Amino acid sequence: MSFEDLLEANRKYAEDFPHAGFDGIARKGVLMITCMDSRIDPLDLVGLGHGDAKILRSPGGQVSDTMLKGAIMSVHLLGVTRILVVPHTKCAMASSTEKDIHQVLTERIGSDTSWVTFGASPHQIERLHADVAKIRSHPLIKDRAEVGGFMYDVDTGLLEQLL
Ligand SMILES: [Zn+2]
Repeated sequence: MSFEDLLEANRKYAEDFPHAGFDGIARKGVLMITCMDSRIDPLDLVGLGHGDAKILRSPGGQVSDTMLKGAIMSVHLLGVTRILVVPHTKCAMASSTEKDIHQVLTERIGSDTSWVTFGASPHQIERLHADVAKIRSHPLIKDRAEVGGFMYDVDTGLLEQLL
């Protein structure tokens, strides 16, 4: 497997590239924290486009320390005033337990994987509450941005605000 198809596509992409000199400020003041799931198009699903938003993705959309660092930088340096935490339906990180994931990986890899913590949990809504609270209460974010907790339905395309 190579990257040639992607590089070829990139050369076409760059042929009429209209964004030279564009800055990194989030034009619509939006940061979305969501899952790495390929069914999610973060900009499209809220009607945004190039340059409008910062996007941070992780397995399950969990708000890790790295995500928090990104949120702090987004709020203070990149024009973000609204933060959406967006887990989704049918997420493998919520439909499996940590034990399930390790079992599958151990079978496929042939060695123990328990030394890696993936953070899978069936308690998706509880985690959303905790993640939103973590951002809202962070001393370097607090009232500087509005923080909302949402759920994205991968079958309907609808985004619902829960928190
Ligand atoms: Zn997911």
